[in-house]
Amino acid sequence: NVSGFSFSAAAGPLPDEVAADVAAACRAGRGSVLSLPFTSPAFRALQEETEACLRRLLAIPDRFRVLFLAGGASAQFALLPLNLLGTARQASYVDGGHWSRRAIAEARRYAEVSIAVQASGRIPDVGEWRVDPRAAYCHVTSNETADGLQFRELPVLPVPLVADMTSDLLMRPLDFARLSLVYAGAQKTIGTPGLTLVIVDERLLGRARPETPRVMDYAAQAAADSRLCTPPVFPIFVAHRMLHWIEARGGVAVMAEAARRRSDAVYAALAEGAGTYVMPVDRASRSHVNPCFRLADEAQTALCLQAAEAAGLHDLRGHPDVGGVRVSLYNGVADAAVDALVAFLRAFARRHGL
Ligand code: PLP
Repeated sequence: NVSGFSFSAAAGPLPDEVAADVAAACRAGRGSVLSLPFTSPAFRALQEETEACLRRLLAIPDRFRVLFLAGGASAQFALLPLNLLGTARQASYVDGGHWSRRAIAEARRYAEVSIAVQASGRIPDVGEWRVDPRAAYCHVTSNETADGLQFRELPVLPVPLVADMTSDLLMRPLDFARLSLVYAGAQKTIGTPGLTLVIVDERLLGRARPETPRVMDYAAQAAADSRLCTPPVFPIFVAHRMLHWIEARGGVAVMAEAARRRSDAVYAALAEGAGTYVMPVDRASRSHVNPCFRLADEAQTALCLQAAEAAGLHDLRGHPDVGGVRVSLYNGVADAAVDALVAFLRAFARRHGL
């Protein structure tokens, strides 16, 4: 079904203009982006422009390197300890939900992981965080995609802060005085699957364990401008178009404001239907990207999802480990989609409210 709107958490839609531009570049024959050699001057220019635009949008300081890698954000769950532990054995992790726990489970294969703080439905004040001073780094999942919880304020920590921003990079301004490494899979807010961005303070480079695969060694990839092996050329092309689209609309502050306005509209509709909907996340910790809710009568969840489908509102099922309903409002989601969803939530509550 290609009509209607998708609110998928797994991948964000491309804005119509970007999708049309990408489709036009996918022509057959010589010069097609689908077979652009990574060794060509044209690709180098594309990569340089993509990086320059990313640096402008996020005000990335010169001492940070931008890596264009493959393997998805999940590969980084292992590559972080392999690259960053150095002579340390300890790493601290914030447990904010599903994706934190996936990162923690993988890190435990390489490091002694301690939990700095548990944020179940509410983010505790930074004073309550217990970061191990011996830790090589502290990891946080800035937006818990499955649970609908977002760390909007990132703290100043005594150890390097590493953030998985797979579901909110380019949807909020960043303060690189607080961050040492940021990574994100591109499929939600930056473009299309296959590219993972790693933005890393060069002071953290050169600590990789000797057994780290060379193509996954941050320092080696930085030295080779991410071309130690064939980089994900097509997703970099899509990211190039998407980044320029964001810039043309006023940049990341404008995206952040749109995310706040759009999520506020969804949360307001849920609050109006308080007898029908339950919001499990504390107000101050609610995500501006992935509002999650449950039906007060859990048996109505299937009915709600079915009615949404019939209204052309797709991919709203909650994460399998979490259940309920989840709305994803990535950069490429159209305002018209959000308006239609808000109208649906109000009408459903009126019709089926307790
Ligand atoms: N981290 C977060 C916060 C995510 O939302 C996801 C995917 O949904 C991942 C990591 C996994 O990304 P990938 O499938 O690119 O490995």
